[in-house]
Amino acid sequence: MIVIQPLPAVKVPLLDLKPQTLALAGELTSAFTRVLNSGRFILGPEVEEFERNIAALTGAKHAIGVSSGTDAILLALMALGIGPGDEVICPSFTFFATGGCVTRAGATPVFADCCPASFNLDVKDAARRITARTRAIIPVDLFGQVAEMDPIMELARQHGLAVIEDAAQALGACYRGRRAGSIGDFGTFSFYPSKNLGALGDAGLLTTNDDELAAKARLLRTHGENPKYFHHLVGGNFRMDPLQAALLGVKLPHLAEYTRRRQENAAYYTHELGKIRGVGDRVILPVAYPHNHHIWNQYTLRVTKRDALRSFLAEREIGTEIYYPRPLHLQECFAVAGRTPEALPVSERLAEECVSIPIFPDLTRAQQDFVVGAIADFLAETA
Ligand SMILES: *Cc1c(COP(=O)(O)O)cnc(C)c1O
Repeated sequence: MIVIQPLPAVKVPLLDLKPQTLALAGELTSAFTRVLNSGRFILGPEVEEFERNIAALTGAKHAIGVSSGTDAILLALMALGIGPGDEVICPSFTFFATGGCVTRAGATPVFADCCPASFNLDVKDAARRITARTRAIIPVDLFGQVAEMDPIMELARQHGLAVIEDAAQALGACYRGRRAGSIGDFGTFSFYPSKNLGALGDAGLLTTNDDELAAKARLLRTHGENPKYFHHLVGGNFRMDPLQAALLGVKLPHLAEYTRRRQENAAYYTHELGKIRGVGDRVILPVAYPHNHHIWNQYTLRVTKRDALRSFLAEREIGTEIYYPRPLHLQECFAVAGRTPEALPVSERLAEECVSIPIFPDLTRAQQDFVVGAIADFLAETA
């Protein structure tokens, strides 16, 4: 008999999805049973209903359920006809998929720097990188705060560029009253379990207000075929599972509550951490702009002695993560032989200073107090 030793209990995990999932266990099981009994395991009514709900939530005209947030970005690029010879500008300080998909589409990613306060694309730096080959910009709503969409859309309009909003971390977030994913030509979302609305596996979604782009993306989602076995375009298999759609449909009515709790947790951290000596100097708190409705997928600090703080918290069984330890312009896979990548000082500095602390909806006040106390101890000891 194999005895599985339980992992030692961590005092404050970075993310604990069990309370959220177990609270809905009955409904999730019924949704699973419904799909099982339907015998329909590819697309169909479960996916269509979920698409309608996300279109309503984001205010976008069309929502297209896909296999992952990564595939949503690739599909958007394909639907826009972006490929070899084209350049696409995206921030360097982001999750890999933002830039990786540009290369997968056959185009060249051009990395721009970001703003140290918001962590989002530095629009002026992006503007400097526009060439005759630039076709699109992919702003990212990092950690749940929408990028500076008005100047980005204005820049895109001036240069005739498409805009794909990588809103993987920002479902339900707003920019000046407009929802993430409803502003650019496409919005892309992820339901990776750690996102604010997490599937029980991989899933993603594409939004657009453009009927033609929506039709093309739907065609490309299933090998560009219509009818079956007659191919207008070379697409791929980018479909969302009806099982994930059904499970996400159970969690979706609770998204507003999950987000509200994340916002409360963020406000509590900002209030409590703000009282500590050294905060604002050796530890810098994240900023939510008043014109943004931030959904706090992550609460990310900037810390001069980041790695020391991380070890200090790990000793107290407090989970943390570094999003992201290496900016994309310095990734080996994007290296061009014989060329040293241009420095992007803010992205490089953030990769050394950023650390995300637990913010998930079921985090308790006692756990938050423990995290705040540990950060205070660290700052006192290292002063
Ligand atoms: C999660 C994420 C993605 C990719 O989503 P997957 O569903 O994991 O493929 C893309 N961009 C950003 C910014 C993300 O956070």
